Amino acid sequence: MPIDPTLPYDDQNVFAKILRGELPCNKVYEDEWSLAFHDIAPQAPVHILVIPKGAYVSWDDFSVRASAEEIAGLARAVGHVAREAGLVEPGYRLLVNTGIEGGQEIPHLHFHIFGGRPLGRMIG
Ligand code: C5P
Repeated sequence: MPIDPTLPYDDQNVFAKILRGELPCNKVYEDEWSLAFHDIAPQAPVHILVIPKGAYVSWDDFSVRASAEEIAGLARAVGHVAREAGLVEPGYRLLVNTGIEGGQEIPHLHFHIFGGRPLGRMIG
């Protein structure tokens, strides 16, 4: 069920629980700013989620409130994780579902990294 990104941050969302260690995840990377883990229901041979450690509902929320350090930290983490997964040469896709029409289901910002097969053209 897509979420309303204008709602305040819900600290009971599943990614908040993963960040607090209350739920497990299959971690691939962690640093001061971000956590990356394998998606529980992968849509491609490689499907990794990268999330900020800060409490941001959506990309929109993050783009307004995050500090320059947080933005840089998350961007660097996404690139690092894709490189470490060996995706740069064949290529990969980044996706950030945002809000109701964007199909976002978990109300904590997350970048999807998809790779490991030809992904085809997708613009909408
Ligand atoms: O962008 P959207 O909010 O729709 O994506 C949520 C993603 O979080 C889904 O791909 C889902 O499989 C994943 N997920 C997960 N671990 C959970 C709950 C959801 O990897 N415990």
